[in-house]
Amino acid sequence: MALNQKVINELKENLLSEKKQLEESLGKIARPVNVAEGDYETRFDELGTDRDDNATEVEQYTDNLPIEVSLEKRLQDIIEALERIEKGTYGFCENCQQEINIERLRANPAASTCIKCA
Ligand SMILES: [Zn+2]
Repeated sequence: MALNQKVINELKENLLSEKKQLEESLGKIARPVNVAEGDYETRFDELGTDRDDNATEVEQYTDNLPIEVSLEKRLQDIIEALERIEKGTYGFCENCQQEINIERLRANPAASTCIKCA
């Protein structure tokens, strides 16, 4: 089955709701650098100046950094998928230009390659 506008709208809804969730999660641990591009920076909270405070600050930052990086990567994939919907190139593999299987898109609406090229 080929992608039709109805399916694209449905996938777009999923992308938009995941985008919102990601932005909320990122908002807790990072500060936005460029929201439109999904660019965030892990926050380094100044809790205080004594040694314990400094240790906690570093610990929090070290814990949050990998989370921030993976959330940000996912958010950028989603933003790119939404851009492809706008441009009308959504659903085609960016490597071999074949249609991406619809089940694959349902499982991951941000997929930019077909199963063979993944
Ligand atoms: Zn491909």
